[in-house]
Amino acid sequence: MKINHCEMTHLAKTSNAISFSRYVQNYIENNDYLSHKLIQYDCFDIVRIWMSKSNVQFNPEELFEHLKVWSEAQYLALCGLYYFYEDKNIMAQEFFEKSLHKHNTYQPSHYYLKLIEINKKELSLRWQCPKPYQALDIQQKSAGVCCTSWVPYSVGDPSQQKGEELWHGQKIKKIRDSVKIGNYQYCNPSYCPHLKNAIEMEVEPKKIIETQHKVTQSPSYLQLSYDRSCNLKCPSCRKGLIQASKKEQILFEIIQSSCIEPLLKNSNTLVSITYSGDPFASTHYRQLLHTLKREEYNNIGILIATNGINLTPAVWKTYSELWRKLKIITISVDAASKETYRKVRPPGNWESLMQNLQYLSNWRDSEMLSTKLILNFCVQKINLREMVSFYELADEVGFDQVYYQRLLNWGMYTSEEYQSLDVANPLNINNNELIDIVQEIKIRSLKSPQLSVRFGAF
Ligand code: SF4
Repeated sequence: MKINHCEMTHLAKTSNAISFSRYVQNYIENNDYLSHKLIQYDCFDIVRIWMSKSNVQFNPEELFEHLKVWSEAQYLALCGLYYFYEDKNIMAQEFFEKSLHKHNTYQPSHYYLKLIEINKKELSLRWQCPKPYQALDIQQKSAGVCCTSWVPYSVGDPSQQKGEELWHGQKIKKIRDSVKIGNYQYCNPSYCPHLKNAIEMEVEPKKIIETQHKVTQSPSYLQLSYDRSCNLKCPSCRKGLIQASKKEQILFEIIQSSCIEPLLKNSNTLVSITYSGDPFASTHYRQLLHTLKREEYNNIGILIATNGINLTPAVWKTYSELWRKLKIITISVDAASKETYRKVRPPGNWESLMQNLQYLSNWRDSEMLSTKLILNFCVQKINLREMVSFYELADEVGFDQVYYQRLLNWGMYTSEEYQSLDVANPLNINNNELIDIVQEIKIRSLKSPQLSVRFGAF
């Protein structure tokens, strides 16, 4: 069903907010289209297409009023969009900012604020992001192409669909198409470091023809994010300890047999386990790792993302058949002192972690493996001043890379709390200090070429 432009125009002309919202709801319920993961009724895209074609004058606050119940962030963003199309950028900006105040990861508002800032309608035609052609992120009831806060749109339901349907479906195609034409309309330019770099022109200008991507049989990167079980309760991520229930374990087995195994069999995919919890605190992922020892998975690579607490020498030895498949081990630490670690990653044990890090580094050298070892640091107000010593710590234990990433709000903070903790926000009081520290680390890293450094979205 195509958008019925005449009907929508008629509704707009009569400013009948109730009928407008009924029409939109009916459209959503009867169409299989890409929907925003955070919004129950996501009509932003269909209203956007209609508004971009229509020249009907109306009062957006009245016409969209009944959409408010689905999401205030979406309602405010739609009002902003109306003014954006009217070339009233100050009004538009005000509404997009209000929208982010309601929901600070609402992607369309970030996107249009960025468009206003750079004052052009296409983010970048010089670069084509390969991610939608390479990556699939499997969650419990949805799947995406990269981090949920970068592209918060679902391309399908892994508990209902096969891996192949997710990877070759119509929904993922829409994201690929948006990347191909260069409008990146589903991507969040405030959080995705690749897009941010492209906008800020830090990527080499390339002719599109040189960067055309093809869809391969299986993704080259498969991220598993469906089990949130973890032995830690970091305040940025959750309020209490999470362990999957029996019911969830059954769901995970379905996802494993219908999506994960078929996509990985005889493929050379790099599978990432896991950025949503901890692989060694999850019964399901521990079993999955044992399954991946089988011969039909000989070509895959494995990325382990862990907090490192349960990665003791005894546990590590039980996975010796996987060692040759391990391409990357990334460990989230977020602190350079016991005191700060206790606050950011409770109830982790600093001393055990340090022993495990050193063991891992020695293991890699003694086994003569090329596994890349990365230490992660999620930058926030509380640990900002430990960023430099964290780099030194990684150097001491013999890791290969430090990755500093921006704090995201996964629903744990109010907007005010998040704004005060997110030092990467240019409006944050500590942002200038962060810029100086980043500079210092860059200079420091020139003296230690064996330890690289990466910054995500700041
Ligand atoms: S959010 Fe970034 S990485 Fe993801 S598809 Fe868009 S540009 Fe690529």
